[in-house]
Amino acid sequence: MDLPARLAEQQAGGLARRRCIVEGPQQSHLLVEGRELLNFSSNDYLGLANDPSVKQAFIEGANQYGVGAGAAHLITGHTRAHHELEEALAAFTGRDRALLFSTGYMANVGVLSALTSRHEVIYQDKLNHASLIDAGILSRADIRRYQHVDVDNLKRLLDERQGMVVTDGVFSMEGDIAPLKDLAGLARQHDLMLMVDEAHGLGVLGESGQGSASMVGLGQAEVPVLMGTLGKALGTYGAFVAGSDTVIESLIQFARSYIYTTAPPAAIACATLAGLQIVQNEPQRRERLRANIRYFQQLANELGIDAGNNQTPIQPIKFSEIDTLMKVRQGLESKGILVSAIRPPTAPEPMLRITLTSEHQHQDIDRLFAALNQELPND
Ligand SMILES: *Cc1c(COP(=O)(O)O)cnc(C)c1O
Repeated sequence: MDLPARLAEQQAGGLARRRCIVEGPQQSHLLVEGRELLNFSSNDYLGLANDPSVKQAFIEGANQYGVGAGAAHLITGHTRAHHELEEALAAFTGRDRALLFSTGYMANVGVLSALTSRHEVIYQDKLNHASLIDAGILSRADIRRYQHVDVDNLKRLLDERQGMVVTDGVFSMEGDIAPLKDLAGLARQHDLMLMVDEAHGLGVLGESGQGSASMVGLGQAEVPVLMGTLGKALGTYGAFVAGSDTVIESLIQFARSYIYTTAPPAAIACATLAGLQIVQNEPQRRERLRANIRYFQQLANELGIDAGNNQTPIQPIKFSEIDTLMKVRQGLESKGILVSAIRPPTAPEPMLRITLTSEHQHQDIDRLFAALNQELPND
């Protein structure tokens, strides 16, 4: 493959990605290459990534278990700390069992490969996370993608084969919520297994942060496969799948991305247990986040800025031109504000993806809108 040509094409299309170098912990004010930037691009929705008790649990975990897990879960990598975290996650989500994976990407790959066969179909929302799309390809099942949140479109695609319906609970770029009740009804009617990826719902939505499915009253019977990540609102790293004993035992036996990889460090499990406790015991964090979402919506309305109307931490502002998007992003950065610019193929339309956390102050959001007001093209 002509890699230089491919790279040049990426550059010419305005699609080249670059990393910024972060020099401190995740928080609402982020130290980036020597500058302090007001951060609206993190998925650390509850401010747990740098929480003192989460850090303390991590340190104590490292003192007790060392750093490396040394082997896969099925060899000698599965510690008491991992096991306790699995039990706590099962109880939290109201499932029979939970199983830890090293990342959400790997959890999705493991689930779709282990729970479907090549004679089955996987129905996916068009805007599902890239890891679910890739997982579908790896599974060897037949893939059908329905229009975003369009249950009628899904209905028309259904045939008699067995398989799964798979959706993000909260969509990672759009920030909207899947029509979970309708999807659950349809899946049940057609004897399909429903999987919900709660990467952006966990910790944030639902009575105690159990996610988007729990928020609309769906449990294990309706959503047999619940996937959650630990690197977003839970503030640490990794992921889990929760479900029936049969689902979890099948993953242990058949999910290659579970079997053939080193277990995450036990100290991560210790830190996650501490984070999970905070998620359950400090509803005020969710309340602060909700207040910030309301305040953001209010300012957006006042200024006539269309940021969707999401009741989630993810607030997209869409652009027709990549050039304009990149100029606005750069303009915000020159004013000390960090917002990520999302371009195809990550999302079909170029967008600023603004994320809010419980740790933002109203004055931070004021500053964001003052800057947006100056930087956004006025048409
Ligand atoms: C982030 C994300 C993942 C991947 O999780 P990682 O633990 O970061 O690999 C999966 N699904 C969705 C919807 C996500 O946003």
